[in-house]
Amino acid sequence: MSRVVVVGGGAGGLAVAARLAVRRHDVTLLEQAPTTGGKLATYRQDGFAFDTGPSLLTLPAVYRDLFLKTGGPLEEAIDLQPVEPGFAYWFADGSTVTVPGVDPARAAAAFGAALGGTAERDWRRVIERGGRMWQLTREPFLQRPLDGWRTLLGLARSTDDVRTIAPWMSLRDLGTDLVADPRLRQVLDRYATYTGSDPRRAPAALATIPYMEQTFGVWHIGGGLGGLADALTARCVERGVRVRTGCEVTRVVMQSGRAAGVQLADGEILPADIVVSDADARELYGRLVDAAPARRARRALARSTSSLSGFVILLAVRGRTAGLAHHNVWFPADYDAEFDAVFARAARPVDDPAVYACVPDDPRMRPDDDHESWFILVNAPRHGQGAGAIDWDAPGLADRYADRVLDVLATRGTDLRDRVLWRRVHSPADLERSTRAPGGAIYGPSSNGARAAFRRPANASPVPGLYLVGGSAHPGGGLPLVGLGAEIVADLVGRA
Ligand SMILES: Cc1cc2nc3c(=O)[nH]c(=O)nc-3n(C[C@H](O)[C@H](O)[C@H](O)COP(=O)(O)OP(=O)(O)OC[C@H]3O[C@@H](n4cnc5c(N)ncnc54)[C@H](O)[C@@H]3O)c2cc1C
Repeated sequence: MSRVVVVGGGAGGLAVAARLAVRRHDVTLLEQAPTTGGKLATYRQDGFAFDTGPSLLTLPAVYRDLFLKTGGPLEEAIDLQPVEPGFAYWFADGSTVTVPGVDPARAAAAFGAALGGTAERDWRRVIERGGRMWQLTREPFLQRPLDGWRTLLGLARSTDDVRTIAPWMSLRDLGTDLVADPRLRQVLDRYATYTGSDPRRAPAALATIPYMEQTFGVWHIGGGLGGLADALTARCVERGVRVRTGCEVTRVVMQSGRAAGVQLADGEILPADIVVSDADARELYGRLVDAAPARRARRALARSTSSLSGFVILLAVRGRTAGLAHHNVWFPADYDAEFDAVFARAARPVDDPAVYACVPDDPRMRPDDDHESWFILVNAPRHGQGAGAIDWDAPGLADRYADRVLDVLATRGTDLRDRVLWRRVHSPADLERSTRAPGGAIYGPSSNGARAAFRRPANASPVPGLYLVGGSAHPGGGLPLVGLGAEIVADLVGRA
């Protein structure tokens, strides 16, 4: 049995803590915020409820496995609900399509019926390719620690496998190859943003995401996805994890060249045999650990591009809106302008962004049937100074930009401006403050570039006794991958 300290109580930290506790380790989890959950959170006010981070759960099997192995079924811990239909897409030319939550064939038929031409066949080809990519990458890449060239070899056992994954292709290239309709290409491009990336630079292998989403379904949690954070926290406590909130870790304590505990902001030192960090890797290597091997990791991170951030508007809305699905996307005419603005050295808020809105038809998330809770998310450059960032705290900027987003929505046919009872804005700066993700980058390093996935911070750090879990480390961000990462780390700690 080892004494384990987990730094950070986001989905990754909670998941690994629960897994380590059932393996009889003595686990303490330290979270700087007043509550656990990190980005996974639901905000409540006046009977309205909004998911402020994840609003869409895919691949619940990852959390089913976690809950079963730590004491009981997921479905007993949360109110897991399939979302049907899954998405409504609005395009700049006025066309729309509503897509089923599960079943790629039905999704392809919906695209075909709405967009015409070869859209149905093209989408089938995308999903079929994404499925083959998923079969090839799931076990050797997503469920194992990064292992240098061995990871690459595991992915490429034959020339056919290499052709399927096509590491030389971007997601955009794949769309250009397989999809004729530019609107359907926008739908495919958008999946790059699930990793905070630019479709023109993110790998074609991200076609696994629509495959996963439509094959295993789009899921909601009754009352809000924050319910998963509560259930994970409860599971940790049941399994004997000491969960301490309001506890900021200021450094990893080193002894004889290995991690030997952590120091808290009030000076308290907690000794440990193993330290697992769920803090963003840039925060860990930049601020919390200064051992020589960590400096190399810090330099490598400095060379990577951060993922994009998100600008969030929560709207308490009077009345009901016709034609909405649970998840809604209004695309601009020029989607590339968005990625140019977000990833430019002279980054700027996107003038005409794709607007995503989650409006759950969930009685537990609105005061009554005559109101709606809108969570609006648009891609945004990260917060900060210098190249690739903007100062989201500049006076008036966040409010002006929220007005702009509502104006954009109105020009695309959905005018909420007279029905808004109140609104709250969460800028990338707010995300940085609440979760300590540098710049509010949602997914740590982006997947921009063919080798980005292999250069993510590894789960076993170069510092003995120090491990990384969570969205900024391998295998990546988003709830499913973060859950898979927690399993990898629990196995690594078991072997240490
Ligand atoms: C707006 C938005 C929308 C998203 N949409 C989706 C979605 O629809 N579906 C999906 O699957 N994913 C989505 N994601 C991504 C998903 O939320 C994350 O990938 C996942 O929740 C990350 O979990 P984590 O544990 O890695 O990190 P975090 O949730 O960031 O947790 C890290 C924790 O560490 C704590 N911490 C940091 N430093 C310290 C320190 N020094 N001492 C103590 N504690 C510390 C932080 O306070 C935080 O609680 C979204 C994220 C955002 C922000």
